[in-house]
Amino acid sequence: MSLAVIEPATEGVMAEIPRGGVAEVDAAVAAAKAAFPAWRAVAPADRAMLLHRLADAIGAESEDLATLEARNAGKPISDARGEIGMVADCFRYYAAAPERLVGRTIPVAGGVDLTFREPMGVVGLIVPWNFPLVITSWKAAPALAAGNTVVLKPAELTPLTAIELERIALEAGLPEGVLNVVVGPGSVCGKRLVEHPDVAKIAFTGSTEVGRGIAQGAAGTIKRVTLELGGKSANLVFADADIEAAGRAAPGGVFGNAGQDCCARSRILVEKSAMDEFMAAMEAAVSDIRVGDPLSDETEMGPLISADQRETVGSFVTEDDVAFRGSAPEGEGFWYPPTVLAPMTNDDRASRDEIFGPVACVIPFADEAEAIRLANDTIYGLSGSIWTRDGGRALRVARAIDTGVLSINSHSSVRVSTPFGGFKQSGYGRELGPDALDAYTDLKNVYYRTEE
Ligand code: NDP
Repeated sequence: MSLAVIEPATEGVMAEIPRGGVAEVDAAVAAAKAAFPAWRAVAPADRAMLLHRLADAIGAESEDLATLEARNAGKPISDARGEIGMVADCFRYYAAAPERLVGRTIPVAGGVDLTFREPMGVVGLIVPWNFPLVITSWKAAPALAAGNTVVLKPAELTPLTAIELERIALEAGLPEGVLNVVVGPGSVCGKRLVEHPDVAKIAFTGSTEVGRGIAQGAAGTIKRVTLELGGKSANLVFADADIEAAGRAAPGGVFGNAGQDCCARSRILVEKSAMDEFMAAMEAAVSDIRVGDPLSDETEMGPLISADQRETVGSFVTEDDVAFRGSAPEGEGFWYPPTVLAPMTNDDRASRDEIFGPVACVIPFADEAEAIRLANDTIYGLSGSIWTRDGGRALRVARAIDTGVLSINSHSSVRVSTPFGGFKQSGYGRELGPDALDAYTDLKNVYYRTEE
């Protein structure tokens, strides 16, 4: 069976590739299992060197990888370049890990107690289409650094950079079987990985609905699971903020990657007294967004990933609610203009569900207590932003919001060196930063009797 990979900006077929099933997953798991003993035994400095080489090799092919990602995911080339840069940075960051996976000595009677962080074995990675290679690297880099081997299942909509990564890893010197890619449907290949008895852990990014099924499927073999799921994050704008700056920045917080971002600040909560000034600044910024050909250096927003996605996004928009829109090309391509709905309530469907497209809801609030209540009135808890000039308020509100990642007077919250992940139904486990290694190792405790 083959799979036609579509280019969202043209609706044309950009590649036809083989489509795997259960047999291909089983073969990849067997290869990863066979490669595990030797990989975990590679001396820490040598494993570090191999990961540095992989980072260098990704860097050397970064322009080709960025172009492939921009075409396949429909994202602006400038964004794709940034993402591929982060992929290389991520492998470089975790290249330092093999030599820093230190344990403890714990005082006990009659001997010495030692702890070790042991690799788990074969780790299955299931990755979505919105940030294909960069999300892969958040999982693959710490998994490999800790001494695990990997089977990666990219989304069928965007498998091309994962296939390139498998080749690049081999050329960079990673042994055969250490990093394996299987392209195929999630309901077949993803499910098999989740249930496979020889897979020790699943790291998943995607929808909350599929994540729930993965947690259930993994229970059969007591697999470790990391889930990075959906979001409906709030951008809180207090009247004491630099309102002009908050309004100009708001589109960047929600329309990046055409809104197909689990961190999208898609509920914009604005203090009533600042509403008019905020909306004027945001409208000007939205009308400036350049939506178009992903391969143009000028482009700031591309198309949606698919016709299905465009239909879903459109189903959330009622014309009467539209305060203003940006522009979008006509003709071939899954285009949708950046769209702002206002004034909305937190109970509207568009305010409650993850739309995963360029649609933002603006919701007024009266005071700080109401802002916190509205921000927390969601099943999700992934990301968010707070705009205020009052430092005490910034930290007070940040502590009160049930969400894993926050930014103050900014929408930037994802870095290789800092933890990322959700509260509530946005998932569990943390990626990136120093803590991610805990999610790819099991803790072993050894008591060594020394008394005679
Ligand atoms: P999914 O959760 O369906 O897909 C994510 C990954 O999981 C893909 O690789 C998919 O494979 C795989 N998958 C699908 N079903 C299963 C299964 N039963 N067992 C194991 N793996 C499976 O997300 P969608 O791509 O369908 O997007 C739907 C919605 O999910 C979006 O509109 C958005 O709301 C949310 N989403 C959130 C993301 C986030 O970053 N938090 C990322 C992507 C989506 P394949 O697609 O190849 O079949």
